Amino acid sequence: MDILQLSHYLDNLLGIKEVKDSPNAMNGLQVQNTGDIKKVGLAVDLCMATIEKAITVDCNMMFVHHGMLWGGVKPIRGNFYEKVSTMMRENLGLYSAHLPLDMHPVLGNNKALADQLELYELEPFGEYGGQKIGIKGRLDRISAEGLRIKLEDKLGSPIKVIGSGEVQTIGIVSGGAADILTQAAEAGLNAYLTGEGSNHHYHEAIESQCMLILAGHYATETGGVKSVGKHLEEQFGIKTEFLDYPTGI
Ligand SMILES: [Zn+2]
Repeated sequence: MDILQLSHYLDNLLGIKEVKDSPNAMNGLQVQNTGDIKKVGLAVDLCMATIEKAITVDCNMMFVHHGMLWGGVKPIRGNFYEKVSTMMRENLGLYSAHLPLDMHPVLGNNKALADQLELYELEPFGEYGGQKIGIKGRLDRISAEGLRIKLEDKLGSPIKVIGSGEVQTIGIVSGGAADILTQAAEAGLNAYLTGEGSNHHYHEAIESQCMLILAGHYATETGGVKSVGKHLEEQFGIKTEFLDYPTGI
């Protein structure tokens, strides 16, 4: 199976064409290559470090959440040149899925987080661009501190909890989606989990009495690429490897 065939499969699997996203997300195939796909490197971010890791472990394709073209149309120079030229030289292909990977009901980042928290009564939540990109659900009553410890254990990253009390209902949108806290508060949820926020979100959480949990942009977005990797192994017997490169953000 070559990269065009695999990309076509992933486009359908992830609903790439149906999901509205920033134009610079360029969801789908970003760098073509030649030959059969032997091993896929899974990464949250396309950066020089993950490209080098992919080459070291003999991947000839990468599947990432944050692709290479966020900067829009620009000259191929500097660190952008380094990335493009290295991928071309090494015949390393690239496929990227941003919002389609966050919101996928089975393989998505938010579904992975919901599973880690053992949520039930799951429903789509968190509107962005006229579509729901997150998930909400219920969990057995747990204290703010209990939830913090549980998440820290599952994600292996420091967790910041703003607010206090007990949690039974929670909304989740992975990454940098703290603005959706307002929707969680309006929906009457006890808590809202996302990756990172800004200073003003602190006051919004306290004043709206909706606990804000910041679990890290990177850490909340590792689940989706791992789920897709597992799917490709089961479906096609293609080898995959998670290329961990935490930013701490
Ligand atoms: Zn992100």
